[in-house]
Amino acid sequence: MTTGFDVINPATEEVVRTVPLTSAQDTDAAIERAHAAWPAWRAVVPADRARLLRRFAAAVDAEVENLALLEVANAGHTIGNARWEAGNVRDVLDYYSAAPERLFGRQIPVPGGVNMTFAEPLGVVGVIVPWNFPMPIAGWGFAPALAAGNTVVLKPAELTPLTAIRIGELARAAGIPEDVFQVLPGKGSVVGQRFVDHPAVRKIVFTGSTEVGKQIMAGCARQVKRVTLELGGKNANIVFADADLEKAAATAPYGVFDNAGQDCCARSRILVQRSVYDRFLELLEPAVRGVVVGDPGLAATEMGPLISSAHRASVAAYVPDDAPVAFRGSAPDGPGFWFPPTVLAPVSASDPAVTEEVFGPVVAVLPFEDEDDAVRIANDTEYGLSGSIWTRDVGRALRVSRGVEAGNLSVNSHSSVRYWTPFGGFKQSGLGRELGPDAVAAFTETKNVFIAND
Ligand code: NAP
Ligand code: MG
Repeated sequence: MTTGFDVINPATEEVVRTVPLTSAQDTDAAIERAHAAWPAWRAVVPADRARLLRRFAAAVDAEVENLALLEVANAGHTIGNARWEAGNVRDVLDYYSAAPERLFGRQIPVPGGVNMTFAEPLGVVGVIVPWNFPMPIAGWGFAPALAAGNTVVLKPAELTPLTAIRIGELARAAGIPEDVFQVLPGKGSVVGQRFVDHPAVRKIVFTGSTEVGKQIMAGCARQVKRVTLELGGKNANIVFADADLEKAAATAPYGVFDNAGQDCCARSRILVQRSVYDRFLELLEPAVRGVVVGDPGLAATEMGPLISSAHRASVAAYVPDDAPVAFRGSAPDGPGFWFPPTVLAPVSASDPAVTEEVFGPVVAVLPFEDEDDAVRIANDTEYGLSGSIWTRDVGRALRVSRGVEAGNLSVNSHSSVRYWTPFGGFKQSGLGRELGPDAVAAFTETKNVFIAND
């Protein structure tokens, strides 16, 4: 450990705690300990590994409130969201605790003998987490990785290490051996880079910007290191004229402004069929003005601050003085990195707020003509993560769902993440899938063994 990092409460700008930053040398030492711990961890019998993961889940469950309060203080998440996030870590651990006892191989008929496959663990897995959802994104990596018999080194984002550090302590208390799951707070350019470069790390799970994701993929290529990437999004919320317009308008703000828009699944482009465009905007305005922005610790609050001063400046750059602001919600004055919910309309299709991931509470509303036009506009981006389709026509819902190039679509709702179902991106939104019944396969190698009859 070398220097320290001041963790700031983004709602108050006060220092919460100073966290030591792991050096490159200490990162290497941790990776080597994780590598040394691997043979014993993979040898833990499946029922016992399952039991340890369930105990880890129970330890998280007993601390949901404390973890949620830590996230409110560290990331400015609303208390309601933060409780869900901590509960998600518990649920994902419970879900993958069923995996060790079900890591089946296959017996495949072949001539001359018996052929079987084994799902072998990879070794040390490096999980690199961003600041927008520190708890869930960590859990989606470490839970299936541990379940499959890998050891894990985890780097939280420099800005948001507190819940990860606590989850590491809970793992230890639950009986997960010290070197099997290590949390290493520090810089991406130091700790994250060592994960990519150190040959004992056999897989990287990265969530963050597309720019850094590309560097990580290139770095992993040097060792043919396995990699899963969850990157950005520029997601479309498509509202057809036949939809329940009241419901579509009432829910649209939460589809983009949740977590202050700092969500790769944020529906930051609302595409509305031209015949109902004006009516939709009329309905959207009170919904946006009604978003409760303020102290994230209060139960009634729906949106908190942005993560940092620098990030607020980056979001604000998408709303210059001459921006086509249709209407805005509110934001508190005084300390804190606040930014009001902001609706841009009518707006040029080439406006950076339409083409780039803003990662803040800014949404552009654009008209479309018909089904083909809606799909064309939705797909007019390098990203392909999520999206919503609002219509009462089930055939249209299916056609458009199949037409939009994105990994996670919802019809007449804005849900993207359910731990039972696969999550991930098309195109430059990512590589591979997390969560769901198949995630453990991304943390194993298939080994084929043939045994001759004689
Ligand atoms: P980022 O730079 O991609 O950071 C994500 C994680 O990668 C952090 O833990 C970061 O460490 C680490 N990292 C950075 N450089 C690295 C390197 N060379 N090698 C290994 N790890 C490295 O994202 P950001 O700076 O936090 O956010 C920038 C933008 O990315 C956002 O405005 C948003 O557009 C997008 N983003 C997307 C998601 C998503 O869920 N898809 C999440 C976060 C951000 P540090 O904490 O030290 O930087
Ligand atoms: Mg960065």
